[in-house]
Amino acid sequence: MFVRPDLILLHAPSVYDFRQQTILYGPIADVIPSLPVYEMYPVGFTTIAEYLLTLGLETRVVNLAYRMLASPRFDAEKFIAGLRPRLAFGVDLHWLPHAHGAVEIARLVKKHHPHLPVIVGGWASTYFHEELIELDCFDYVFRGDSTEVPVGMLMRALAQRDIGEQRLSEIPNLTWKDRHGATRINALTNAPVVLDRWGNNYLNMFKMSMKFASITSQIPFHDWWTYPITAIMTNKGCNERCAICGGAGPAVKEYAGRECTAFRPPELIVRDAARLARYTNGPLFFIGDLNQAGPQYAHTILDGLRRHDIRNNTIFELFDAAPAEYFRKIADSVPNFNFEMSPETHDDAVRKRGGKKYASAQVVEMIGHALGNGAGKFDIYFMIGLPGQTPASVMDTVEWAGELMDRFDQRLFTFISPLAPFLDPGSLAYEHPDAYGYKILFKKFADYRTAISAPTWKQGLNYETQWLTRDELVDVTYRAGRRLNQLKHEKGFIDEATYRYVDERIGRAIDLMDRFDKLLACGDPERIARERAMLKTEADAASTDTVNAPHEIKWKVLGTNFNYLATARDMLLGPRF
Ligand code: SF4
Repeated sequence: MFVRPDLILLHAPSVYDFRQQTILYGPIADVIPSLPVYEMYPVGFTTIAEYLLTLGLETRVVNLAYRMLASPRFDAEKFIAGLRPRLAFGVDLHWLPHAHGAVEIARLVKKHHPHLPVIVGGWASTYFHEELIELDCFDYVFRGDSTEVPVGMLMRALAQRDIGEQRLSEIPNLTWKDRHGATRINALTNAPVVLDRWGNNYLNMFKMSMKFASITSQIPFHDWWTYPITAIMTNKGCNERCAICGGAGPAVKEYAGRECTAFRPPELIVRDAARLARYTNGPLFFIGDLNQAGPQYAHTILDGLRRHDIRNNTIFELFDAAPAEYFRKIADSVPNFNFEMSPETHDDAVRKRGGKKYASAQVVEMIGHALGNGAGKFDIYFMIGLPGQTPASVMDTVEWAGELMDRFDQRLFTFISPLAPFLDPGSLAYEHPDAYGYKILFKKFADYRTAISAPTWKQGLNYETQWLTRDELVDVTYRAGRRLNQLKHEKGFIDEATYRYVDERIGRAIDLMDRFDKLLACGDPERIARERAMLKTEADAASTDTVNAPHEIKWKVLGTNFNYLATARDMLLGPRF
């Protein structure tokens, strides 16, 4: 190690001992870049590191989940014991599926570094902060979606050895314990309405790899070297009110103190994209619908992208109906553009009940506009577990996907996946289950630690609906995935090999779920433990690529993966833009 970090940020796997545990995770990660251990760390790690650097404090990010995935021999405890930060450790508990891994990692940190404080933050930490501060492995819990400045205040206090109660009580968004052991909850006042300070500073992350002599620790997810997709955050919060989403406007207002959606200024989004396009030819994914801040905002960004002649594949999200003009404008601005949209269902009434405003007819129009203007790929995501959605409705959605395939060409990609493993705490449906027809099965943070490490994803699901029991949800997920795969094949949207690959994996997953059900029904803990362990290899194999093949969710890297010369030049001389 060349530089001693002040803070080490650790990203845990969802289940700490996933390499030993037998868990049929199911298709919970088939439509995202991560595997079911959720090895991708949150963007907040990079922005915290970037901000602390401006205070003269060094941060090292360690993706423990990736290190554990990449090498069966990687000893996480030994590695943690050997770390030597000057001031503190941080662990993210952003996504709730990390409920098990984040706590176990924090406990190992405390075991080997009892004199150093452990900080935790993220969406799940925000929601469960009062339970987390009661655990002996966390000293400070940060709340909200913008914790760079508050973390900086705490780090300064630690550096100055002044962590008296007066100083701590001045740090916004912080939950902590005073000397009497009483929980103190500081006001959640740090929720900036304009995101004009930090971006996805990949250059800083590249430098971090050099400073701490460890490239593998910063890898964002398992196949990033061969598939270097990068994300550009455009906003925090959301204008929409989707009932199942913990990031919806009313949800983040209630539990994360965000009064309104905050947007990153267009020039900073363009700068991020231009920099990334200098370093990689991988896809650039714009997170958030550019139209949410109005057409002028979106057009300013698109004009900027055109000026920089960005030729990477670009991906734009659509949260609501967009006019034909938007698609023309994008086609005018970037040569390689793609879209993602989640209408969730074919049924307008179900979609409306779930909080989305647009109709299926508008989805069809938008696909037509996008493909007509030359989009390379249009991804449509359907969801299982919505308010008002029956098993029959799910299967009708799949048939509608087939109708879309009849209408459009092979640039259309359709996916269906369950709302799993958890309905987001904080979401409207979670907070008002009766109004939306949900039954919430777990409420406490401790419940989620058990749920994510349950034998199968069926026992881990934290909800049922009036229209779908957990058994029905699992059953219809595999049926829908199988039928959609069949339709894609029949209509020439996937080749024979892909069809057979997915179909065979779904068949194995169904068979395995049936065997787990029978085993768990025996009620004999010793037999369950013994026979569960014997299913490890099969469970691992049936937990990825079940409802679609991995290449279906990807966009092409247009050129070499990385531009090493430009990266080296900017690392030495500073970013060109
Ligand atoms: S699901 Fe998407 S569009 Fe809906 S509230 Fe969440 S982030 Fe917004």
